[in-house]
Amino acid sequence: MNTRATKSIRSYQARVDRALRPATPITTRELPPTLQYRIAPGSRHNIVVNTDEHVHTGQTLVAAIADGPASIHAGSSGTITCKQTDSEGHTTIEIATDGYDSRRFKQAIGDKFRSMSSVQLQQLFHHNGLVGLGGACFPVAGKIAALESKPASVLLVNAVECDPAILCDRALLLEQASAAIRGIGIAAHACNAQKVIIAIKNDEPAIHTAVQNALEKNPVENSSICKVAADYPVGYERYLFASASEIPVPENTHPTALGLISFNVATCIAIAQLIDRGEPLFSRVTTVHKPTTGAIQNLHIRFGTPLNHLVQGSDTTLQSVAYSGLITENLPSRRTATISPASNCVILNPEATTQNDCIRCGLCADVCPASLQPQQLLTHSEPLDAKQLARHQLDRCIECGCCDTVCPSGIPLTRTFQQAMQAIHQQTLQIQAAERAKQRFAARQNRLERQSAESQAKLARKQAALTQRTKQSTPSADPRKQLLESALRRRSKKPKTDNTPPPP
Ligand code: SF4
Ligand code: SF4
Repeated sequence: MNTRATKSIRSYQARVDRALRPATPITTRELPPTLQYRIAPGSRHNIVVNTDEHVHTGQTLVAAIADGPASIHAGSSGTITCKQTDSEGHTTIEIATDGYDSRRFKQAIGDKFRSMSSVQLQQLFHHNGLVGLGGACFPVAGKIAALESKPASVLLVNAVECDPAILCDRALLLEQASAAIRGIGIAAHACNAQKVIIAIKNDEPAIHTAVQNALEKNPVENSSICKVAADYPVGYERYLFASASEIPVPENTHPTALGLISFNVATCIAIAQLIDRGEPLFSRVTTVHKPTTGAIQNLHIRFGTPLNHLVQGSDTTLQSVAYSGLITENLPSRRTATISPASNCVILNPEATTQNDCIRCGLCADVCPASLQPQQLLTHSEPLDAKQLARHQLDRCIECGCCDTVCPSGIPLTRTFQQAMQAIHQQTLQIQAAERAKQRFAARQNRLERQSAESQAKLARKQAALTQRTKQSTPSADPRKQLLESALRRRSKKPKTDNTPPPP
């Protein structure tokens, strides 16, 4: 990364940090009139509620599937008003909330979790909708299962929000450090972790003190706090393992293959709430920015809350909404988007940014932490050239957004790469489906040919046997031969006599 680009990123981050650093306490957002859950096409799911059915807060809407997605739970009590699949294959479940928020959770497990095995805890997590709340939403049970019953050498707790706009984990640690430590202890038990590292930014003394105090009250075996430099994108899992545990994770290797596992701090709190209160996962804390009013809030919001519910009053002129922070910006469709486990941050932008053509300045390449050539990737993303994108290693893009930040032309590079990756993924799925269909067709042809050859061989055998029998039963035309044959037949039917002379 060259000095100019580094300065650019650092000054940008410092500018945003100064604006956002004041502590923003967690407040609870009131329930919206409706909650909507959209299930992606192709995902295996098992919907267990019907239209007009009354549900309680926390009740299962979509049951978990082994080795598949975790369950989804009602964010409020109310009535199921819609359960339908659209032409694109998205299934929507809608709850008309009743305002009572009546809860019906399963019994809390409490300290009995210590006698539960890792597999039992994984099943509990999976059937209570526990997914990672750091942005990737990977099922917690799936992550632990990837260790293949081996003890985790390191459990890394990621409390490093390096995008300056994301402040929810910071608020959670300041207000709920004890719950976080409790969840870390349970997660360590579930992974049989030999070592626990809690990674915190080195410029957050208040968080450090809160976590230290909570650890003293409720110690977690073999745990330590590691302060890491606050440089973006250190919170990215692969980089964080390298800086906090000093274990480099090679490209194309999943950390679990090396016995390394990480959980976001919000995920650890969700684990503690499940064990101590029996509460499944149906809500999260989201940082909401409203640049028009300058408001920054950490809101406790139920999953399924439409973003429109956050856009009210003076915000009605808003033109775009960004997820995931200032640098890791990800633009959803505003009309249909809802709060999901991935929504760690929502920015309600006042206006769309202007965009110019690429001037080939190369700044994006200078700042790319994965050493890619974003301008080349851009060229081959529109129109999509999958071969060239593979040659320029698009798959190594970590979607960090650094290139967007420095681009003087305001090109949404990361979004373009995300769309290209999705398009390539779809193409790959189609190619795989076509290949599977081709193999099935070839197998069918082989089977038909084999069956036909077998039936022909059978027929030939039958015909040969028939001919043989006919030959044997047809009398010879020569009368002398006929006489000989009948004599032979008679002889063969005569009982054999013993010609041995009697003993003297
Ligand atoms: S988003 Fe991708 S291409 Fe852009 S800087 Fe990050 S890793 Fe590099
Ligand atoms: S994409 Fe932006 S930062 Fe990269 S070379 Fe083009 S203008 Fe420069």
